[in-house]
Amino acid sequence: MRATGIIRKVDFAGRLVLPPDLCDSLHIERGKDSLEIFVEDDHIILRKYAPACAFCGSFHDLTEFENVKICGNCIKKIAKLKK
Ligand SMILES: [Zn+2]
Repeated sequence: MRATGIIRKVDFAGRLVLPPDLCDSLHIERGKDSLEIFVEDDHIILRKYAPACAFCGSFHDLTEFENVKICGNCIKKIAKLKK
C-alpha cells in the first residue's frame, strides 16, 4: 500500500468524494462503477468492484453465463464432470 498524500473529509452522511484524477488513473468510471469496501485492522480498503468466479473467487479468465461469472478453470472442471 502506498500513500497518495490525498486527504478528504467525510461529510455528515458518511460520504467521501474521490479526486477525479485518482478515479481516472485507476480506471474508475464516475457515475457507473462501484467500489467494494474491505476492512483490515483499522484500514479501509476500496477496490473497484468486479464480480469474481462464482465457484472459486478467481478474477482471471472470466466468462459470464446466465448473469454468473465463471473462470476458465471452473469451466474446464465442469466440462470434465459431464464425461
Ligand atoms: Zn473459478
